[in-house]
Amino acid sequence: RKFIFVTGGVMSGLGKGITAASTGRLLSNAGFDVTAVKVDPYLNVDAGTMNPYQHGEVYVLKDGGEVDLDLGNYERFLGVDMTSDHNVTTGKTYQHVIQKERAGDYLGKTVQIIPHVTDDIKRRIREAAAGTDVCIVEVGGTVGDIEGMPFLESLRQFAHEEEDEDILFTHVTLVPYSKNGEQKTKPTQHSVKELRSIGLQPDILVGRSSNELDPETKEKIALFCDVPTEAVFSNSDVEDIYHVPLMVEEEGLDEYVMDRLGLAGEALPKADR
Ligand code: ADP
Repeated sequence: RKFIFVTGGVMSGLGKGITAASTGRLLSNAGFDVTAVKVDPYLNVDAGTMNPYQHGEVYVLKDGGEVDLDLGNYERFLGVDMTSDHNVTTGKTYQHVIQKERAGDYLGKTVQIIPHVTDDIKRRIREAAAGTDVCIVEVGGTVGDIEGMPFLESLRQFAHEEEDEDILFTHVTLVPYSKNGEQKTKPTQHSVKELRSIGLQPDILVGRSSNELDPETKEKIALFCDVPTEAVFSNSDVEDIYHVPLMVEEEGLDEYVMDRLGLAGEALPKADR
């Protein structure tokens, strides 16, 4: 099974969820069975009690799970039904670990974030991915947030436990324009530096910008963030978010992902998609 971990940098509300859902859609078009997991580093057990003015509408799943709206994007983009197991929150994980601790399941051990919480996070991701070819795991928030640390550490361990060709890290960042109309890569560089400081090296970088990234911008990002230029993609502003999969397909994101994950030979030929 393949896993694509999607993280975001610089700021929230970037389009990380849409990028993740679009990647999933392209893989599902290529004939793979794709699912998604949204990781939300907040202490709420689920989104049911959260103020919609602050957080956006609560999305209700078939099993009654009240979750983040991102799960709605995944269901619509991928055409699959999900359950509340596909939304992993800090609240859910800690509640479970603390209940186990109270029941004496840890047999007297000191219960800690590493390994007990991180093991629980990895277990949840693996269980949600069972029976599929590819699982996209989106980490809510931005790299560097204290809340997100146990999740990012879990992903680091996860990648260490799986084969290299089964894991891909995609990092979505903001590429702003300066007053004189230049695309600026510094926020991306800083964000990748932050990611690397916790032991994660992105394989793919997606730059959210009002326009397509210039070839020079891509080269600069590639050089400073240590990825090939072909691994840098644009996600520019579109009128309708359902155009995003087509836009990133034109840039070759699907081909690159399949190539890196060793799925290229197993995909449907392009003409049949
Ligand atoms: P994040 O997961 O980074 O918080 P989302 O994927 O939820 O971000 O997107 C944040 C907002 O930006 C949403 O309202 C989404 O519809 C919008 N958005 C995402 N990508 C694009 C795009 N390429 N063009 C226009 N709007 C976009």
